Amino acid sequence: TVVTRFAPSPTGFLHIGGARTALFNWLYARHTGGKMLLRIEDTDRERSTEAATAAILDGLSWLGLTWDGDAVSQFQRVARHREVAEELVRAGKAYYAYETPEELTAMREAARAQGLPPRYNGQWRDRDPADAPKGVPGAVRIKAPREGETVVHDLVQGEVRFPNKDLDDLIILRSDGVPTYMHAVVVDDHDMGVTHIIRGDDHLTNAARQTVIYEAMGWAVPKMAHIPLIHGADGAKLSKRHGALGVEAYRAMGYLPEALLNYLARLGWSHGDDEVMSIADMISWFDIVDVNKGAARFDFAKLEALNGVHMRAMDDATLTKILIETLPHLPYGEALADRLNDKTRAQLLQAMPGLKERAKTLVELADSAWFIVADRPLTLDEKAAAILDADARGILKAILPGLQALGDWSAANAEQVVRVYAEQAGLKLGKVAQPLRAALTGRSTSPGVFDVLAVLGRDESLARISDQID
Ligand code: GLU
Repeated sequence: TVVTRFAPSPTGFLHIGGARTALFNWLYARHTGGKMLLRIEDTDRERSTEAATAAILDGLSWLGLTWDGDAVSQFQRVARHREVAEELVRAGKAYYAYETPEELTAMREAARAQGLPPRYNGQWRDRDPADAPKGVPGAVRIKAPREGETVVHDLVQGEVRFPNKDLDDLIILRSDGVPTYMHAVVVDDHDMGVTHIIRGDDHLTNAARQTVIYEAMGWAVPKMAHIPLIHGADGAKLSKRHGALGVEAYRAMGYLPEALLNYLARLGWSHGDDEVMSIADMISWFDIVDVNKGAARFDFAKLEALNGVHMRAMDDATLTKILIETLPHLPYGEALADRLNDKTRAQLLQAMPGLKERAKTLVELADSAWFIVADRPLTLDEKAAAILDADARGILKAILPGLQALGDWSAANAEQVVRVYAEQAGLKLGKVAQPLRAALTGRSTSPGVFDVLAVLGRDESLARISDQID
């Protein structure tokens, strides 16, 4: 069975590129009925933090990208990494080298002077271990092949060849006993039974170096898929301005996890012309070999449009529940959350069909729902204040008695009153509806004004209208 893994370094939040890597691993595992494992690559003790690990787990959970089994800490496996390094030394596939940092610097500079890439000269490779200086800890280096080439058979990039003369004897265990990233990844992927390594194509050269370690151990190399990085809309490497933010920033911008996943899946992968996909669709359609080689461009406008589609596709009760749950993460969301009670929650649900028609994000949804909980007298925004001039207030005064006289308070009955008045006064319906909307919501845009009347109910509606009449 397929075993994939997501292997983030806990040095910051779960950024959008990492989320897409996790998604592809997850989709492939779910598509094949396999497993996705999670490994926290926390060997770098200086840069790894508990807070970053927590943020990554939280981000994955919010997105619904579940992993199988417990998250593995790479740092906890250091003894095993050392054991494998020593095994390689015993087998003559690796060796201890005793250069001082100064010697290594001199070696790099000599190579640079000759116009060569900085590389280790292999001076301890064939030396008798008995020559080892006393009391000086050595670093373990792998004996990389010097002739021929190392080939990475990549499911996305195809066959990628690396001349072995470019791969020097890299360190697998530092002289302080700390394994290098390159080595730890190989040992962990092997021990965890990983069959497919899916990660960013910035790791492609590492794949060649890691292949050398697999081969030295006589281990099968997992299948590899190096996926193209995400670029900004202008084609440049993704920066904060382009959207290289943590996934919690996307939650705060009011995107639904399923919409963000749909968008991320489409960055670098496609299934015919399908743009809008449910999670079940993605699981059933995803295949790693269909991922493109070219860099994908991140486009906020597309994400936003897709989010609107996903919101409208959702039933009102579910969307209302998700909105309420997400409020604590939204800017100003707490204010709305604080005012929710059984009554206003029911009003929110009742207003949802009209609200979701206009909103592209949960932030817009929360904002346009504010009228439900607003205090009287309403604070009018600039446009609403402009609408409510003397003429408009006169119109409100004229329709008020008709509304007060309504026996049965409903959107249809209120509409009837307004229509009859507009006709008699020779006004277009909008001329009457706009002041009404401004008085009821304090805004110039809102769900259909008769639905607003129905949601607010008789007493609140009449009071808000009266507030605008002098
Ligand atoms: N920890 C590495 C990173 O965050 C990923 C290593 C891998 O996937 O092999 O870039």
